[in-house]
Amino acid sequence: DEFMTVLKKIEAGEELVFEDIVVLLKTNGKSEIEALFHAADRMRKEVVGDVVDIRGAIEFSNYCRKDCKYCGIRKSASQINRYRMGEDEIMDVVYYLHKIGLKTVILQSGEDLWWTPDKISSLIKRVKKETKMNITLSIGERPREEYELYKRLGANNFLLKIETTNRKLFEFIHPDNDFDSRVKASEWLKELGYLNGSGNIIGLPGQTAEDIARDILFFRDKGINMIGIGPFVPAKGTPLEEYLQGSIDMTLKTIAVTRIVCKRVFIPATTALASLDSNGQMKALKAGANTIMLINTPDKYRYNYQIYSKKNMVDLKSAFKAVVKADRKMPLYLNIREEDI
Ligand code: SAM
Ligand code: SF4
Repeated sequence: DEFMTVLKKIEAGEELVFEDIVVLLKTNGKSEIEALFHAADRMRKEVVGDVVDIRGAIEFSNYCRKDCKYCGIRKSASQINRYRMGEDEIMDVVYYLHKIGLKTVILQSGEDLWWTPDKISSLIKRVKKETKMNITLSIGERPREEYELYKRLGANNFLLKIETTNRKLFEFIHPDNDFDSRVKASEWLKELGYLNGSGNIIGLPGQTAEDIARDILFFRDKGINMIGIGPFVPAKGTPLEEYLQGSIDMTLKTIAVTRIVCKRVFIPATTALASLDSNGQMKALKAGANTIMLINTPDKYRYNYQIYSKKNMVDLKSAFKAVVKADRKMPLYLNIREEDI
């Protein structure tokens, strides 16, 4: 049948086309889904190996000028307390991440213009000077010159998800983002030499398997290096709070197909997945994912960074659990053992 034909193409190392990807995403049989995950897992082993890369994220500000309809920290969210961490406070977390041996810190925030280019530059310089860690920025859309400045100062990676490549759907969920500008910003990051991160949300209202197939081809054709794939998680107080959450199965299938199509890329087992399923990260690791992002935002702030409700806190303990259960390895560079946590 159709599925077996595509599976044979994968085994023969042939390039998949749009129609093949749609067949894989629409697969519903239990044994077919298992075969798909196995194929992705083999590809993952071949192209990135068994070590799960661990990164630490600091959500340093929940102020945002945008009103993305799905997001719990959108501008119009009135029930949350807004916070900004100071540079010293951020550095304290960076020192901790450095001490436990992590190589990469992810600095994430809403689109907060209080964080001017001068302030962000100062932070990047300190992280570089005092720890030499790799820096991943996830601060939303900024002018090209700013991306260029941060790259020059030593920022290495940038996460800016396209969320969906369906233009109509993109416009529906983003009252103040322009699809073409978003694509352009992602292209700038690539041109400037960042390891370029993108990704999508699975289960947005009206999204189809065909839409998701086009997302995957976008990641491949744009040369995206890191691909965050998470289910839609309804957030209280947002226009989408009454919508159904995204499907875990569809999220896992998307991870698997993305691994098969995009090959040597970083695919995180996302926090959104961990929030909907306590075994979600382990399942993702077995379906093609190879990284975990710890949430290291200080306790007094993290509950105000609820981009969706019931956000699960991914920490070292849960990361160890997922990695061991998935029969994979923690990185040797970690200075901390499971028994020390
Ligand atoms: N403001 C920056 C941006 O939008 O790129 C970075 C922070 S934003 C909170 C990070 C990611 O959270 C977004 O790219 C989006 O995919 C995800 N996100 C926000 N709300 C979500 C929800 N309700 N369900 C799933 N993912 C969500
Ligand atoms: Fe702001 Fe990012 Fe949330 Fe959109 S997804 S409202 S830009 S924090």
